[in-house]
Amino acid sequence: MKKAFVTKEMIAEITKTYPTPFHIYDEKGIRENAKALKEAFAWNKGYKEFFAVKATPNPFLIDILREYGCGCDCSSLTELMLSEAVGVKGEDIMFSSNDTPAQEYAYAAKLGAIINLDDITHIDFLEKTIGYIPKTISCRFNPGGYFAIANSIMDNPGDAKYGFTTEQMFEGFRILKEKGAEHFGIHAFLASNTVTNEYYPTLAKSLFELAVKLQEETGAHIRFINLSGGIGIPYRPEDAPNDIRLIGEGVRKAYEEILVPAGMDDVAIYTELGRFMMGPYGHLVTTAIHEKHTHKEYIGVDACAVNLMRPAMYGAYHHITVLGKEKEPCEYKYDITGSLCENNDKFAIDRMLPKVEMGDYLVIHDTGAHGYAMGYNYNGKLKSAELLLKEDGSVALIRRAETPKDYFATFDGYDIYSRINF
Ligand SMILES: *Cc1c(COP(=O)(O)O)cnc(C)c1O
Repeated sequence: MKKAFVTKEMIAEITKTYPTPFHIYDEKGIRENAKALKEAFAWNKGYKEFFAVKATPNPFLIDILREYGCGCDCSSLTELMLSEAVGVKGEDIMFSSNDTPAQEYAYAAKLGAIINLDDITHIDFLEKTIGYIPKTISCRFNPGGYFAIANSIMDNPGDAKYGFTTEQMFEGFRILKEKGAEHFGIHAFLASNTVTNEYYPTLAKSLFELAVKLQEETGAHIRFINLSGGIGIPYRPEDAPNDIRLIGEGVRKAYEEILVPAGMDDVAIYTELGRFMMGPYGHLVTTAIHEKHTHKEYIGVDACAVNLMRPAMYGAYHHITVLGKEKEPCEYKYDITGSLCENNDKFAIDRMLPKVEMGDYLVIHDTGAHGYAMGYNYNGKLKSAELLLKEDGSVALIRRAETPKDYFATFDGYDIYSRINF
């Protein structure tokens, strides 16, 4: 059973100050999970998690992760700026970008970030842009084909735009070495949202084997292997959560079987988790404002897809709890809709829930990563606030809600407010 980390009473109190909809994050959950991740990889001396900033780009939340030694994984100018602002600099930044504008490479280099190249042609592009090849450099690997664990297909890297082919990895390392690179990283992200303890160990095994060959054939010193993101979370109540301790242990086993005998026992393991770090520790809280009985039963809420795009974009399942009705049987079938003029603006379709009454608070679970962050402004809808439920039970506003002024702010020279009677 999935349980919300807030109660109806708490939300009734919070909404006196902050009206719905809003995202709320659970500090206690974030901390416990970050600690467990750190412990799971404590066997590796150089281990570091670079939090994938794109998942939840909020400085207050990144500040919490920093206490557990996390750096930042960035792939855009503003993500780099955010990292610099929270004091994450130098090699605590992994710049895992693709289709990268020159300005962004220049800024990443200025910050001393580790640059993770997405393509062999980016070697020249980077050198032309910043005038040199950094001493530490990483290349993103894409073996093509399907990524499978025990004959079950997890994802389709052959169809993904990212990374170097196997041959390009060897050629790229040689070229980079000639151009002065001294320490190398290998990065790969081959399957997304995996709900299995086998993904990282399977990926690690193939990257470790590649690392041994690359070191042998090119003489390059492999300093780190970046397993990137991809550890999933149990969005559905029937999903078993990943066990990070077992995952860390599986990677350790592969490390000892492959890297240690090759004399590569100084290789650091890096991760770039986003979803796993934050996903379960965010809720989108919304109020039921309309009920509609037509060809189906609809509950209209005050949030919409601009607050959480995953259901509309991917048909993703997000569990819903009707606060105060946790113990009631789920005997009513609803579509839970937002207000966009888009028929895919539905948080749930044919979802069995307790009877929903107007004014009920609905918690949409697992919005802590790729939730607020993917928001947009279609239909002129405004982005919500983000709140932090602190360990002591108090609530802090960590991003205010947008106002119409924010929405109109980029019409330089056209003052909307002087022309209306709002
Ligand atoms: C999105 C992304 C991540 C994080 O992925 P999760 O599924 O949130 O763990 C890590 N690295 C890169 C390069 C990414 O694009």
